[in-house]
Amino acid sequence: MSTRRPEPRDDLRALSGYHSPQIDVAVRLNTNESPYPPPSAFVTRWLHALEAVDWNRYPDRGAQELKAALGAFLRQPPARLLCGNGSNEVLQTLLLTYGGAGRCALMFEPTYALHAQIARGTGTGIVVGERDGDYTIDPATAAAAIARSRPAVVFVCSPNNPTGTVEPRETVETLLAAAREVGALVVVDEAYGEFAPWSAISLVDDDQPLVVVRTYSKVWSLAGVRLGFAVAPPWVIAELEKVLLPYNLSVPTQVAGTVALEFADEMEHRVASLVEERGRLFAALSELDTIAVVPSGANFLLFRVDGDAHDVWKRLLARNVLVRDFSSWPRVEGCLRVTVGTQAENDRFLDALREVLAEVSG
Ligand code: PMP
Repeated sequence: MSTRRPEPRDDLRALSGYHSPQIDVAVRLNTNESPYPPPSAFVTRWLHALEAVDWNRYPDRGAQELKAALGAFLRQPPARLLCGNGSNEVLQTLLLTYGGAGRCALMFEPTYALHAQIARGTGTGIVVGERDGDYTIDPATAAAAIARSRPAVVFVCSPNNPTGTVEPRETVETLLAAAREVGALVVVDEAYGEFAPWSAISLVDDDQPLVVVRTYSKVWSLAGVRLGFAVAPPWVIAELEKVLLPYNLSVPTQVAGTVALEFADEMEHRVASLVEERGRLFAALSELDTIAVVPSGANFLLFRVDGDAHDVWKRLLARNVLVRDFSSWPRVEGCLRVTVGTQAENDRFLDALREVLAEVSG
């Protein structure tokens, strides 16, 4: 008797999943995490708070304490907040709610791969908008793309992953105006927003179709916890809450998010020193003849290698330095991306890169 294996949905067959190798190396600069562990006082406070938890009970479904603390920190009412397991879950909830069959999302490539991946997973169509040569979004071209393709969701990643490009406020305002004309929701992914000179959170308003998505994975040194959030008008949050799984956020996650905010000053210092290191790395990379580095408002730098970039990536790995290989990605061909690490890690990366470039040119 022949048996048939269950098949996934037809439109998912071509999906290849998310690929960023997790390799054990001495200098890991490939996933834009914080190079620092959370402060030890945070871990002590967190674990202490967990001793009093009723583990047999479900967590607070509304994450009220977390939203109250986060709202006070952001100077936003808690009704404008939605929390998820990493900003990826928030992005997925956005597309489950506003995307889906018969709808499409507009995204400007090259950008964060998960925007397209989540669109595919949720059956949302994808419309690709192009960027200018410096990787910024041209507001007029983008507004025309919105009018033409009438997307349900417009993604703006600022600072953009993998380029580091920060969109000016005027661009977001132009996109919002165009989105209002067609009833689209503008989602600004600010996973790296703390490293940039301005934030679209300042544009969130109860009358604007704007969502800003942020994460605890980078600045807050909590990638291992999985916590992200959206700032949006209450009428958007209310729709997202209908779709979010109940009790999505575990108690440890909710407590971590609340307690972390007590360490905001320390985190601000870390951001300042990472921004300084970014400047130092940028200057050092700019001095290398066969490298062209892209200006960045994030905790990483994209650079183009004159020659075989994948080979350079492999040779860096052989020296125990892992960066992200974008060399075969459309629009960033020949590029590698390095996360800003500690001063020592950045020095090891620069030394290794100089060695590799000398090796391949000689
Ligand atoms: N958005 C962007 C632009 C990212 O680069 C990342 C992490 N790589 C995320 C969202 C997701 O982060 P997390 O799910 O850890 O919050």
